[in-house]
This record gives sequence, C-alpha cells and structure tokens, in this order.
Amino acid sequence: MERFDGRTAVVTGASSGIGRASALRLAEEGANVVVADIDADGGRETVDLIEDAGGAATFVEVDVSDTASVEQMVDVAVESYGGLDIAHNNAGILTGFVETTGIEEAQWDRIVDINLKGVWACMKAELPVMVENGGGAIVNTASEAGLVGMGGLSSYSASKHGVVGLTKSVALEYATRGVRVNAIAPGPTRTNIQSGVVGGGGSSLRDRVGRVVRLLKTVVRTLLADYDTSAMREVPMDRIADPEEMAGAVAFLCSDDASYITGHTLPIDGGQAAD
Ligand code: NAD
Repeated sequence: MERFDGRTAVVTGASSGIGRASALRLAEEGANVVVADIDADGGRETVDLIEDAGGAATFVEVDVSDTASVEQMVDVAVESYGGLDIAHNNAGILTGFVETTGIEEAQWDRIVDINLKGVWACMKAELPVMVENGGGAIVNTASEAGLVGMGGLSSYSASKHGVVGLTKSVALEYATRGVRVNAIAPGPTRTNIQSGVVGGGGSSLRDRVGRVVRLLKTVVRTLLADYDTSAMREVPMDRIADPEEMAGAVAFLCSDDASYITGHTLPIDGGQAAD
C-alpha cells in the first residue's frame, strides 16, 4: 500500500525541474497525477516518464496567471480521476538580477502574475473541490527569497514573500475544513530556472538558444549593475540541491504523515535558514 494510492494530485510547473520531480514522486507513491504546465513538450515528457515507471498521469496545458485556464486544469483532474486530493502549486519564473529602479512595469506584472497570483488562482479553483471531496493537502512553492530579501531580485523576492503570507492565511481559513496548506522554500536547486531562464523550460533548439541568450544577458546585466552574485548567501552544506530533494519534502507535506502540519513554510536549503 503506497501513501497516495487512490488519490489524485495536480502539479503545476511539472514540465521540468522541481515540478517534474514532484510529479514523478507523487506518482511513484500511487497518486494519479495531472501534469500541468505552459510547456506542452516538457509536460508530455513528464507523462511519459511517469507511465514508463508504471504510474498514471495526464497532461494539461495551463497558464497559471489565467484564472480560466486554471479552472480548466482542475476540471481535467475531476473529469479524469474523479476528484482532487493533492495540489503542488509550483509553477514560477525568475528574473535576471536587476536593481528595483530598473525593473520595467511589464516585467514586474509578469513575475507577480505567475509567481503570486498564479498560486492564488490555483488555490481558488482547488479548494472547493477538495472541501467537497472531504479534504486535501496543498503545497505551494515559495523560495528562500520568500524568507529573506535578495538585492537585485526584489520582484521575485516580493512575489515569494507573498506566497508565504498567502499560504499562512489560507491555512487558517481551511484549518477546520480538512485542507492543510503548506509551502516549501527551496534553496538553490539544479533546474532550468537556475540558468537565468525567464519562462518555460522547453527542450527544443529554439528554447535552448533562448536560454543561452537570456543567460548571457543576465551575466551582462549582473556585471553592469555591479551586483556580486557570489555575495549571495552561502550554503552551509556547500552544494546546490537536486529537484528530487524538494520532491521528498513535498510528498511528506502532502501525506497523512503531516496530518497536524498546516500554515508552515519549510526551508529546504542545505542549512541557509540556520545561518
Ligand atoms: P523550472 O524552470 O525548471 O520549472 C518551472 C516550470 O514552470 C517550467 O516547466 C515552466 O514551463 C513552468 N511555467 C512557467 N510559467 C508558467 C505559467 N505561466 N503557467 C504554467 N507553468 C509555467 O524551474 P524550477 O526551479 O523547477 O522552478 C519551480 C519553482 O521552484 C518555481 O516557483 C521557482 O520559483 C521555485 N524555486 C526554484 C529554486 C531553484 O533554485 N531552482 C529556488 C527557489 C524556488
């Protein structure tokens, strides 16, 4: 008997990185998984990986900043598997390093729309279904940047602080309605986002060229802005994380092993929060 046998999970941002690892882990432990992402190619790869390992998964294309698209994502979970028990609201983007006065309005809106409004939109659609089902567990992906400030990443940090506050507030609202709401705060993790990606994590030649160009722009902006990224907080464990190390914590928080835990943001950061 696996921890998530008979349960249905939706994971946003599941086409790569932390979301893919989480989708694989939840499926491995028995959940039917709705793999949700704006990147269809990567999402279908995740579904293939789950099915090759003997699990059940369905891909749905979603833009988490669009409430209608998010409602449709939850409809797919209900139509495909009869309900929704678990949600990992994880899709997010990162900017390059830029000082606050250099952020363009459209950039600010995009970060907040995806990283913060997207998490709210997901919970707005998921919560009624979970309550109707008799309960559920939600994990939102915040960041170490949601717990401390980060010079050069103020829009990202603000959006992730928002996710922490949103998580606490919704946890209080649903504490007696059977839905637990927690968040993870990853430290630096080996994913596409770490290479300066703004947006999707596709694997086509165009996506990869785009990533290299954005990475170079990030490096140039960083040098011009005189931001010393090496001054970013050191990791006491002296290594960056693998996405699977996030997925293990997500699975724990979604499981009945965490039945008395709600409203928390768990740093998974190689010791950074202790420093
Ligand atoms: P990633 O780029 O590999 O994955 C992000 C996924 O989100 C991609 O598959 C992308 O296509 C998807 N996405 C982007 N915009 C979307 C949208 N509008 N709608 C739906 N999907 C969308 O990066 P990751 O590191 O796996 O990021 C996952 C989460 O972890 C993000 O919220 C990120 O902020 C957070 N995080 C990452 C790190 C790290 O070091 N990697 C650290 C702290 C927090």
